Amino acid sequence: MRKHNMFSRFFFFTAIVVLMSFGIITVFSNNSFRKILIEEKHTAMQKEAKLIARQYANDYFRQNMSTKKLASYFGELDSLLNSEIWLCDDKGTIVTTSTEEEEKFLGQNIYKMNPNFDIEKTFRTTGYFYDTLPEEMLSIGRPISLAGEQVGYIILHSPMSNLSSTQGDLIQISLGSFLILVVIMLLLISHFSRKILIPLDNINIAARQYACGNFDATIPITRDDEVGQLAASLNFMATELSKMDEYRRNLISNISHDFRSPLTSIKGYLEAMLDGTIPPELYSKYFHVVLTETQRLTKLTSSLTTLTDFDSYDTFLKTTDFDLIPVIHSVIDTFQGRCDQNGISLTLNYEKEVCIVNADRTKIEQVIYNLIDNAIKFSKPEGYIRITLTELNNDKLSVSIKDNGIGVAKSEQKNIWERFYKVDNSRGKDKGGHGIGLAITKEIIKAHGQQINLISTEGVGSEFVFSLTRSKK
Ligand code: ADP
Repeated sequence: MRKHNMFSRFFFFTAIVVLMSFGIITVFSNNSFRKILIEEKHTAMQKEAKLIARQYANDYFRQNMSTKKLASYFGELDSLLNSEIWLCDDKGTIVTTSTEEEEKFLGQNIYKMNPNFDIEKTFRTTGYFYDTLPEEMLSIGRPISLAGEQVGYIILHSPMSNLSSTQGDLIQISLGSFLILVVIMLLLISHFSRKILIPLDNINIAARQYACGNFDATIPITRDDEVGQLAASLNFMATELSKMDEYRRNLISNISHDFRSPLTSIKGYLEAMLDGTIPPELYSKYFHVVLTETQRLTKLTSSLTTLTDFDSYDTFLKTTDFDLIPVIHSVIDTFQGRCDQNGISLTLNYEKEVCIVNADRTKIEQVIYNLIDNAIKFSKPEGYIRITLTELNNDKLSVSIKDNGIGVAKSEQKNIWERFYKVDNSRGKDKGGHGIGLAITKEIIKAHGQQINLISTEGVGSEFVFSLTRSKK
């Protein structure tokens, strides 16, 4: 319905504009045609008057031609040129006319018709010639001289109706072509507006589907212009929204799952204590289990908070220049106990004693913590973990954390960065993880404008390498 509204509105306004231009063109062309025609007729009549004066009137004034003869010549010229011809003497008295109807003017003086008439000058007027003629005329006059002396005056009257019919013909031709143009234009406008409105209608239908949460609706892209680009952008937006929607659903299901398992076990132990299944002497052992589960929940909550912080666009980093060596050593110290228990060697290789970088100290500490934590979790007993710092030439530093643990299969290497993703074969080794550590690690490195990569072979080991900016001071 809306489409038709828009179309008819568009069509209506175009039609109004076209009709207005039609009116304006009619008025203007009418006036200018009239002016041009009068101008042309005037020039032609002046020439005719000059010719008549030279050919006939001179003979008449030299008395080589009778008045009757002259009148009969004027009669022929009148029907040929469609102009009435009057001849006056030097006093302004009409002596000859070209038609019998006008013989009534013979003997009349031009000054009686208009006292201001100047017989010594050419003149031109349109109208009823001082109310003497029955129809509107274009009248012109010019003096006739013989041997430098004025002997008479010739006046020509041409009916304005002649001009009007030519003017009418011209207007008809121009307006006719204009009308054809208008029809073609309206047809084209109708065609093109429909061509624009149909894709807009498709976009409208799809947008309504998106509003209802159905992101599967795709808009057909039939054109390469702005409307086509809009359709493509909306299709892209729908795909992204659909991904977000799926991500949101997965996230909620993962979060509920990860919350449910510790809560179920806490509930189970507490119920068992209350109903006596667990005897009081074992309480202390199970309180520890419950405590561990609550710690898992606390860790999960804080990981989720960290991720949400990264999701807000303006991740705030507190970057400073600091020495990376003590930071790595403090993380190593945290894990030393676990490594010793499993016979894992954890070493740092760097030939210098100080390594100043520019980064957010707490967040980089968290990255190193996550990577070493994973390396220990996925290492075999008696394995090794090597941390190596390498200065790169362009003010950068690479940090590598390499283990000879279970490794990550090629097909999984892309997925491990996703939130809540855990490789199936690692589940046995790492029951406590939530699959968020690497997602947080990647976000932190990305926020620093740096990169992190994994080089790994299943069954051989993994090496995580990330870059940092070295301090310029
Ligand atoms: P979590 O927080 O559960 O440890 P991560 O996001 O840190 O999850 O890791 C995701 C998955 O990547 C792990 O479940 C594991 O399968 C794999 N992974 C990470 N680090 C290593 C490693 N050093 N060796 C082998 N697999 C690893």
